[in-house]
Amino acid sequence: MGQMEPDKLVYLDNAATTRTSPAALAAMRRIYEGPAFANPMSQHAAGDAALRALEDARARIATCLHAQPREVELTSGGSESNNQALLTGAAYGARTGRRHIVASAIEHPSVLRMLERLASPDGPFGGNFDVTLVRPDADGVVSVSAVKAALRDDTCLVSVMYANNEVGAVQPVRDICRAVRKRGALFHTDAVQAAGHLPIDFTRDGFDLLSVSAHKFHGPRGTGALVCSHRIVPAALVLGGAQERGHRAGTTDVASAAGMAAALEEACGSLEQDTRSLRNLRERLSAGLGRIGGARVLGPAEDGRRLPGVVGITLAGVDHESALVLLDGLGVCVSAGSACAAGSLEESHVLAEMGVDEDEARTFLRLSLDARENDEGDVDRAVEALASTAARLRASAPSGVGSDR
Ligand SMILES: *Cc1c(COP(=O)(O)O)cnc(C)c1O
Repeated sequence: MGQMEPDKLVYLDNAATTRTSPAALAAMRRIYEGPAFANPMSQHAAGDAALRALEDARARIATCLHAQPREVELTSGGSESNNQALLTGAAYGARTGRRHIVASAIEHPSVLRMLERLASPDGPFGGNFDVTLVRPDADGVVSVSAVKAALRDDTCLVSVMYANNEVGAVQPVRDICRAVRKRGALFHTDAVQAAGHLPIDFTRDGFDLLSVSAHKFHGPRGTGALVCSHRIVPAALVLGGAQERGHRAGTTDVASAAGMAAALEEACGSLEQDTRSLRNLRERLSAGLGRIGGARVLGPAEDGRRLPGVVGITLAGVDHESALVLLDGLGVCVSAGSACAAGSLEESHVLAEMGVDEDEARTFLRLSLDARENDEGDVDRAVEALASTAARLRASAPSGVGSDR
């Protein structure tokens, strides 16, 4: 079907962001166009309607993640949630004299950059936090034993992502959380790639802090949540009014909250079905890559240990930046890394930590599929485009394989 519609873009960059779903848009429209457009703090009927809509959205988000409504703090997205989670852990550390933080070395920059701030002498809560970064194995998985080995009596916080955004490796966060909490530290997981794609149970798994972002599951951009256990008090990031129980000031974006709730319910409702269709698309993609040759799929091989839609590959002899341009010309949208790394010439820290050498890392492409966005025709068109791109770039490379840059 792809070939019949040459104008249709094949969008395989769903890990960077997803198309906002019609249900999310409709939910947002209802807020903007009805009485609930008002300020939920206002003391009148319109304000009451807004407050009811806000608390309804919060409760539905909580239900999807198996948390209590009061544990769901609305934020501007994954980066802010991660920042706030780390500050919450650091505040706990400063209060209890624990000044050591453990994180995986493959976290999102919104975790790694905040860790640098906390480690610096002029960082928040007195700075000078001691930070240990735990390396993953060659599949991009951080082991429970490696995290356990890094724990100390003065560890206040451990942050390990639920699933990696570049290679799709799902991390053993349930077992890590259990080990961390036994030692009296808080556990945070960046679940931005997992929410709406893998089942999440905040209460059963005993997480202290969990970050989600609406635009990774067909909700609006610029909105997310930090799920913060009722056992702890989140650090305030924005000071001002009493919104979000004083932890995040500013007039609450009720429409975005409603859009996020609608999108998350939809995603969680079709999770099993979506996972099945993504497995089919991924198998079709793998078969196509096999025909192209020289492709290596990174991350764990087993279905249960990877995100259903994220496929990180290296293509021997195919420089990824040139490939991106050629693929774009053929109407195929993929990524040469995470969206933050793309556009810069910096190599991915995730691949480096996995032990992928620099030459191979320069051939990395991330294809992220989505059950609602993509069909078999998309995969066929992407494979066709990858085949012609690989043929062109390999023919022009001096040695036929490998880049000489
Ligand atoms: C996209 C992403 C983020 C950032 O979320 P924003 O809402 O864009 O700030 C954080 N962590 C992971 C793993 C992501 O994929």
